[in-house]
Amino acid sequence: MSVEIEKFLKILAVEVKDYQVPVVDLIAVQTKNPFKVLVATILSARTRDEVTAKASQRLFEQAGTVEALAELGEEALRKLIYPVGFYKNKAKYIAALPQKMAADFDSKVPSTMEGLLTLPGVGRKTANLVLAQAFGIPAICVDTHVHRIMNIWGYVCTKTPEQTEMALRKKLPEKYWIPVNSLLVAFGQGMCRPIGPHCDKCVLTDFCPRIGAKPRKHQSKQRSVDTHSLVSWNVNGLRAAFKKGFIESLKAMAPDVLGLQEIKAMKEQLPEELQNLAGYHGYFNSAIRKGYSGVATYSRQKAENVIRGIGDSRFDDEGRVLTLEFPTYYFINCYFPNSKNDLSRLDFKHDFNVLLQTFAEDLAQKKSVVVCGDFNVAHKEIDLANPRQNRKNAGFTPEECAWMDSFTDAGWIDSFRMKNKEPDQYSWWSYRSRARDRNIGWRIDYHCVDRNSRDKIVDADICQHIHGSDHCPVVLDFRL
Ligand code: SF4
Repeated sequence: MSVEIEKFLKILAVEVKDYQVPVVDLIAVQTKNPFKVLVATILSARTRDEVTAKASQRLFEQAGTVEALAELGEEALRKLIYPVGFYKNKAKYIAALPQKMAADFDSKVPSTMEGLLTLPGVGRKTANLVLAQAFGIPAICVDTHVHRIMNIWGYVCTKTPEQTEMALRKKLPEKYWIPVNSLLVAFGQGMCRPIGPHCDKCVLTDFCPRIGAKPRKHQSKQRSVDTHSLVSWNVNGLRAAFKKGFIESLKAMAPDVLGLQEIKAMKEQLPEELQNLAGYHGYFNSAIRKGYSGVATYSRQKAENVIRGIGDSRFDDEGRVLTLEFPTYYFINCYFPNSKNDLSRLDFKHDFNVLLQTFAEDLAQKKSVVVCGDFNVAHKEIDLANPRQNRKNAGFTPEECAWMDSFTDAGWIDSFRMKNKEPDQYSWWSYRSRARDRNIGWRIDYHCVDRNSRDKIVDADICQHIHGSDHCPVVLDFRL
């Protein structure tokens, strides 16, 4: 199936008018300066637009010309452009530009593909973008969004951006060569996102074949009276998450019950909006030690009963478990201990696991139980990006995985895996090395349900599109 490409691009031209303009386009329009377009394009590779924009601004304030750039050393450049992706390599390339341009191009940016490809750090993608944006020469810049969306549409069937460029050069009308990048970058960042595209509200939803796309769920779903949407999220500091758009994320997810872990605050330390969250009853179990651990649960429905802890001060002093009782089920919100890099807390964690399991099984004698939270363990190889390298590391040691085996063998159901067998589905990414952008993650956040409540698992999902923490929320739709 091949789409009507002109119709698609015309629709998008209208659609993306209100979207954020890709940073390199913005710099091209604002400066009309090939040198700045070249440098910003180099900076933009594998880097979010907001980061590129700020790094470009800092750099151009110091060095807005090739001559001024020649005065800056590589070390100074590194500091100016940090934290763009691969900033050390990019600083090296940019530092080498003035000499190369002076030697071969009279200190000007060359306006040919061949000339541009001789510059340090410039590949076909960068060269095409510079030709198109700085010189207005028809060239197709195929970045990840263009490559991905053209394949989703079935307009090309290719494995690499280079193959996509060559395929588009043969079939895409030339009048679209320059604008196609801007259109699809804006559209790819705002609507047809790599993870969880908004197909439910996309202008192309009636025509798009969605080849290989996994549309996001839970955004426009009707609230069901006999189902609770249960969300679990390690916020890595509730006050920090609040500053990063927690309330907006909450509105987008609209959960019935929200279990938060690692809130790192006493109730009275939270802003008023969080102490009395509109539309919710708030329950807190903070650690004695300030700024550490702690869990909180918000619920639309008032809980019949609240249990703080699991009856052992080693864990209860750290505010690790908070249980709410509702008419048909218990919601146990847990922050499992981390076994630590040197595994010095492995035994502590195991003791917690065993006690928590006993606690949950006692409750499951009475009614359904959902155990949610940051379990601090990836259960199987499918649950992390690099299993072999992490076999001896905290969160994937044989001991931790063995407990998770015994937990599921005892009948506790990992609801997400019951509904989704796909790899590359993670809920936590290290802040280092842009792991989230590259989806080098771990699935360590779960909703586990007692064996007798299997039929109550309606759906389960991971909200990878929700930011604000190094974890993202996970969701369980649970029949009452
Ligand atoms: S319908 Fe979905 S997959 Fe297709 S273009 Fe729109 S957001 Fe992307």
